[in-house]
Order: sequence, then structure tokens, then C-alpha cells
Amino acid sequence: MHDLWLHEKNTEGYGVKWRITEVLHSEKTPYQELAVVDTLEWGRALLLDGAIQITEKDEFIYHEMISHIAMNSHPNPQRVLIIGGGDGGVLRELCRHRRLQVVDMVEIDARVVENSKRFFPAVASAFSDSRLNLYFEDGLAFVKNVQDKYDVVIVDSCDPVGPAVELFSETFYRDLYNILNDDGIAVVQSESPVFYQQTFVSTHSHLASVFPIVRVYLAPVPTYVSGPWSFTAGSKKYEPAQLAENHENFADLKYYDKNVHSAAFALPKYINNLITK
Ligand code: SAM
Repeated sequence: MHDLWLHEKNTEGYGVKWRITEVLHSEKTPYQELAVVDTLEWGRALLLDGAIQITEKDEFIYHEMISHIAMNSHPNPQRVLIIGGGDGGVLRELCRHRRLQVVDMVEIDARVVENSKRFFPAVASAFSDSRLNLYFEDGLAFVKNVQDKYDVVIVDSCDPVGPAVELFSETFYRDLYNILNDDGIAVVQSESPVFYQQTFVSTHSHLASVFPIVRVYLAPVPTYVSGPWSFTAGSKKYEPAQLAENHENFADLKYYDKNVHSAAFALPKYINNLITK
């Protein structure tokens, strides 16, 4: 039996190979190619358009870090919006917060939710939470029409390809600003500062054109491109690097805690220079 390898091409000059033991599912949704595979070393993995989105073994890093920084730097995060996030990992993390009253989730592709429920039950564990309103719509349109305001917005999008391209635009970030309360915070996944430098820098620049406070923080996600992965927070009032007085501690988290909260904002010089020059 020959070894089975998935070749994930990340840039024109960089790719990785994942030894897989089984292809569990593959389909073309109305928006993207979706696949679920069992990998030899990282457990089950979800791929969209050939790019790993989550693996069972390391999804906690990304989902804890994109969720708890904003939720713990805002003193009363009651109403939250998720754009994207169809696997359910961000939703699972948000639902830990006792002050959360409503979470609106806008995922363009229902097939991502359905396949995550089927193949990643530990990630998709919060879809039955009564605080959830789930919309299968384009996040770009949703933010232009929604009337309610939010305390926190999390943009858990895939790479800027296909339906996600405009989720990295200044226009979209301006729309986010307009649907946030006067003390609201938005967090977006802002790609690898090393391999996707142009997107990382432009995302920071777009957010800085809209928000008075913009902060980058990092976390290494082993099954994304090598090196640090970035998140960028746009805030209307609070300092994202600062824990709110009444922040929550969750003993069972595996990556995030109050020390990591502060440390994540300590940027190496080469990355800081990209966004300050
Ligand atoms: N953590 C992953 C990463 O960093 O690449 C992303 C997770 S999640 C699977 C990304 C989701 O964004 C996908 O389910 C995709 O369908 C959704 N998405 C892409 N464009 C969208 C849009 N315009 N509106 C709403 N959801 C969108």
C-alpha cells in the first residue's frame, strides 16, 4: 500500500505535505471545494479549496486566541457577531463566556457547518446553544443591513480567496465599525506576517484607517504556514492588550490564559517594523 500524501500549496514557492490515512469526504459546495481527511499526525482535518482550516490536534490554539482576547478585554461582551467560522470553533469558545447573551453567526456556506457537525463534533459542539442565531449569508451584505449593534465582532474567514476576498477590505472594516457599539472591538484573522506579508500589512492599514486603536497579536498554529499567525484587533475604546477588570478565567483552556493574553501582543521587531514604517 503506497503512502498517501496531501500536498498543500501555500504560496508559489512554499508548500507542505501531510501524510493522510483516509479521505473521509470531498465535495464541491456552491462556494468552495470542501474535504475532510484523517491525517497521520494531526487527526482529522478540514480543507477548503485545498487549504487546511482546522485539525483536531491544534484547532484549540487558533480558536482560543481569536475569541478570548476581545472577549476578555471588553468589560461586558453581551452581543457578539461572528463572520465566517463555519466549523463552530469560535462559537464554542464564545459560549464559555457567562456574559454572552446573543451571538449572531454569518457563514456563507451551510455545507461547512453541516460537515463540521458530522466530522468534527468536538469543534461544532455549540451549535445547539440557545444564544445562537445562525445566518447562511454573505457577511459582506449582512454587515451593511443589520440594525442591531454589537460589543464584539470576530471575523474568522479563510484566506482572502473566493467569497472571502472582500472580508479584508477597508469598506468591510468601515461597515464593522458602524455596527459596533461605541466601545466595541473587532478582531480579524490577519494571515501570516511572513508568507502573506502584503495581506498582513494591508489588513493593518485598512483597520488603522477606521479604528482609533489597532493592535496585532500572534500565535503559532503548527498546521498553518510555518512561523507566527497573526490576529489584528480594531477597538473603539478599550486597549485589546489590557485584560478587563472582570475578565474570565477558564481553567480547561489549553493555550490562552491571562499571561498569554499580554505576551501575544509582544511583536518581534521585524513584524513590528512592517506595520509601523
Ligand atoms: N480558521 C480558518 C482560517 O484561519 O483559515 C477559517 C475557518 S472557517 C472554516 C472560514 C469560513 O469563512 C468558511 O466556512 C467560509 O465558508 C467562510 N466565509 C468565506 N467567505 C465568507 C463570506 N463572505 N461571508 C461569510 N462567511 C464566509
